[in-house]
Amino acid sequence: MAPDIEEIARRRGFFFRSSEIYGGMSGFYDYGPLGTLMKRKWEGLWKGFFLGLDENFYEIETADIMPEPVFVASGHVQSFVDPVVKCRKCGFAERADHILEDVLEEKFEGLSPQQLDEIIKKHNLKCPKCGGTLHEVGILNMMFPINVGVDKPAKAYLRPETAQGVYVNFPRAFEVMRKKLPLGMAIIGKAYRNEISPRNLLIRMREFTQAELQIFFNPKKIVKHSKFGEVKDYPLRIYSEEKKIRFTQEMPCSLVVEDQNLPEFYVYHMAKIQQFYLDILKIDPKKFRFRELSEEERAFYNKYHWDVELELSDGFREVGGIHYRTDHDLAGHQKVSKQDMSVFADGEKFVPHVLELSFGVDRNVFALMELSLKKDGERTIFSFPRLVSPYDVAVFPLVSKDKLPERSRKVFEMLKKNFVVFYDESGSIGRRYARQDEAGTPFCVTVDHQTLDDNTVTVRDRDTTKQARIAVDELAEKIAGMFSL
Ligand code: AMP
Repeated sequence: MAPDIEEIARRRGFFFRSSEIYGGMSGFYDYGPLGTLMKRKWEGLWKGFFLGLDENFYEIETADIMPEPVFVASGHVQSFVDPVVKCRKCGFAERADHILEDVLEEKFEGLSPQQLDEIIKKHNLKCPKCGGTLHEVGILNMMFPINVGVDKPAKAYLRPETAQGVYVNFPRAFEVMRKKLPLGMAIIGKAYRNEISPRNLLIRMREFTQAELQIFFNPKKIVKHSKFGEVKDYPLRIYSEEKKIRFTQEMPCSLVVEDQNLPEFYVYHMAKIQQFYLDILKIDPKKFRFRELSEEERAFYNKYHWDVELELSDGFREVGGIHYRTDHDLAGHQKVSKQDMSVFADGEKFVPHVLELSFGVDRNVFALMELSLKKDGERTIFSFPRLVSPYDVAVFPLVSKDKLPERSRKVFEMLKKNFVVFYDESGSIGRRYARQDEAGTPFCVTVDHQTLDDNTVTVRDRDTTKQARIAVDELAEKIAGMFSL
């Protein structure tokens, strides 16, 4: 993990521990003004891109607290558990696979408590805090239970994933949206998990934001996608220990369908996800891959599961995933709620299947911060992709006199109509540029004495530090042009 991210994030107001004045609570973070601007921009791009994939895709908003039967039906009450190991001496608790990972530097996710126990005993592992002996590995349900109401309170949970909000609404949404498949419904919202060992800042939190799109479709049609022709030659970056692809390979979508035995409907959406990362978020292709999860790692109901991974300073990290959840959720809700979840489409009655495109928003924001942090001598720069920088433009008067502040304010007001703009007149011009470099602002506009003569300003590019003189009348259009590059 880049060592100085936390310090810059706090100092510049990207994110910091929640309830900081009381010492904070592990796994909870708040976003300051810059972080919030950036997160909202990421969410806006995500919505624009994924809801734009089909005219029958929509955004909805559902409750964070849901009654217990929802999670009985989804399987979370029974099996949303992590293996936990406690120290006999000091009581310290940690995820058993994480203890092993830290010492043996291998992945152990998905192993059973018994298997983890055996490995812990084999290597004679002790408590990482006090060296005491460890209890046997147990399990802990990660949901936060809640009592709702006063008289005979109902048992409920904070949702551990946004997905269930979509599934319980499926029959109504299908009805309202003219009974057409595929039907896509997206939620950007909070999810809550009582993680045993929250760690790595925004990577593993207890309250976090997900952006998830659930696509309901006829399972018989999974082998085709009407727009597959558009992506058939597009090279997907894939990695799969299962299939012995042990370094990232670029493989055209058509070959992924043939060789990897994946259906067109699935591969089309993999291509779209990759395009979102490479074309919109401008991620260096070398730092992007899809990784196939092994049988042990993936949830039993996921028929196909590939994670979206970005390479950060400590290796590839999961930031999203594409899950073929079959009819697991709708069939589960049908059984427990006794409501019919089937549809009549394409001349037959069936329970639709679900393809889930799931992303951790905070992980993505964090990954962009890590990937963008650069040092250039004394300069610290967040070279964010332009579309996600908190501010688009900053405006300064060269000096705070000679009517330059008044003139700058006018430029500021004009640009505010189209951009997110920051105005600053305090400190030397060098300090102000440095502050904007640390905030990741792609362009700084400076109003100087020449502006008063010929109505031009300088525009400084964050990445090259080169300056160009541009007429104020053309400024908004020229800057807009630079955002579409
Ligand atoms: P999952 O349901 O575990 O596949 O999670 C969906 C998405 O949420 C993942 O792709 C992660 O990026 C993100 N996510 C899961 N757990 C956490 C967490 N504890 N903190 C932050 N993001 C998370």
